Amino acid sequence: MIRTRFAPSPTGFLHVGGIRTALFAFLVARQAAEGVFVLRLEDTDRKRLVPGSKEHLIASLKTIGIDYDEGPDIGGPCGPYIQSERLDRYRKWAQKLIDKGLAYADPYTPEQMQAFRDEAQANKKAFLYRNHRPENPPAWDGTQPLRFKSTPKSYTYHDEVMGDITTSSDVIDDIILIKSDGYPTYNFAHIVDDAEMHITHVIRGQEFISSMPNFLAIYEALGFDMTPRTAHKQTEQGKGRHGHTVATLGGKAPVVNSLHDQAEGLLPLPVFAHMPHIMNEQGNKKLGKRDGAKDVLDYIRDGYLPETLMSFIATLGWNDGTEQEIFTKQELIEKFSLNRIQRSGARFDEKRLLWMNGHFIRELSLEELYDRVEFFWPEAAKKAPESYRKQILALAQDRLKTLRDLPGLTGFFFEEPARDDSLFATNKQLKKLSPEEISHLLEIVKTKFESLETWTPESIQDCLNQLLEITGQKPGILFSLIRIVTTWAPFSPQLDDTLALLGKETTLRRLATY
Ligand code: GLU
Repeated sequence: MIRTRFAPSPTGFLHVGGIRTALFAFLVARQAAEGVFVLRLEDTDRKRLVPGSKEHLIASLKTIGIDYDEGPDIGGPCGPYIQSERLDRYRKWAQKLIDKGLAYADPYTPEQMQAFRDEAQANKKAFLYRNHRPENPPAWDGTQPLRFKSTPKSYTYHDEVMGDITTSSDVIDDIILIKSDGYPTYNFAHIVDDAEMHITHVIRGQEFISSMPNFLAIYEALGFDMTPRTAHKQTEQGKGRHGHTVATLGGKAPVVNSLHDQAEGLLPLPVFAHMPHIMNEQGNKKLGKRDGAKDVLDYIRDGYLPETLMSFIATLGWNDGTEQEIFTKQELIEKFSLNRIQRSGARFDEKRLLWMNGHFIRELSLEELYDRVEFFWPEAAKKAPESYRKQILALAQDRLKTLRDLPGLTGFFFEEPARDDSLFATNKQLKKLSPEEISHLLEIVKTKFESLETWTPESIQDCLNQLLEITGQKPGILFSLIRIVTTWAPFSPQLDDTLALLGKETTLRRLATY
């Protein structure tokens, strides 16, 4: 039974890096026969909490289509799924370490701690708490930090992405397990929760690799079986990772026995997979807010489709071994594998995102697209009949790169466009024509259009071709001119279709008012 989790801290919005971690954990769970994907909120760093971010995280996951089976808002057999509601569990697990002589109260004042740090700095040495471990620490009463009594040693573990890693003993330290405010540290809490929630795969950002030595020391102290795990072995086993029965009651939710009552020495390590960083387009620094590390919901507001974001984010550092770049959710579930994630940083290419979004927009049926663009129509379109809007949408569909392009591409269908002479100035070919030449050409076009009896894309195209012959102009000049004067938009759908839908009367009127 595969159980993965996404464990964000509610300290702000979810950016692409966070969503990618969630997506990969989700995919690993979904591709397993009875895989379960858990959402857990890690809110033990009370000073960093941002009101509303829990709701925001949940909305982001749901919008992108990453649904979870257990979580703070839906419950599940291993709840609660918010760390601040699990304080009793951390105390229980901490007590086990105290009982074994592997955890102790930290008696120092902040001033004393600062003196130790200053001393290490003066000696140009890394500060290690264990060098100052008190000989006779007081009994822990919950008001001091509870520290881990570490033994420096080296560990070897397997990372599904980074390969086999041997850690250095130097960084092992007496890290804090429970802070003086009564909340556990992330370092301790995630180990307890992953165990109690029967998590088989820990998938997270590569910034946690440097803490792995200390995590492994804690796993060992808690009596885990330290044999390195690989995802492959995990799948082959095909049974509960703790070897105990996982029953299914009615619905989907498994019923699992409480872990910390089990005999020690049986708990296997989870599979670890640390994701490479997401880099800017040039690949020379970590993605920052300016190059795309923004709230994923902003991409939705900017007119990107959830399916684009899913495919794009999945391919940040992962491929299926072929040239395929665009994947549906179903394809990702089938094809994703942790060991095809690259080790080096993935580049965030906004142009690729835009291109991919155009692709997913073209793939939608007109009805689907119509539903999706509900909030993107220009103001003036709101009064227009649905059938007219649908006709326009059908014309615009293959030119839309984001849903946000809709007003710019279609506004002139609904209201008189404002004249914008910069469109001439920026058009290399039209720039060369004098206002007189333009008026003369438009006069010819108008007369020819007036004589048209039927007003369909075909008859208009016919007429346009004749106009090329009559005027001796190139399409690049004549058609651009007609397009600009009838739409005053930098982009518009195909000319014959556009004029047909605008109607003969509007077309002639706009040609006349140049
Ligand atoms: N709360 C941690 C974070 O937001 C989660 C790390 C993990 O997945 O273990 O980065």
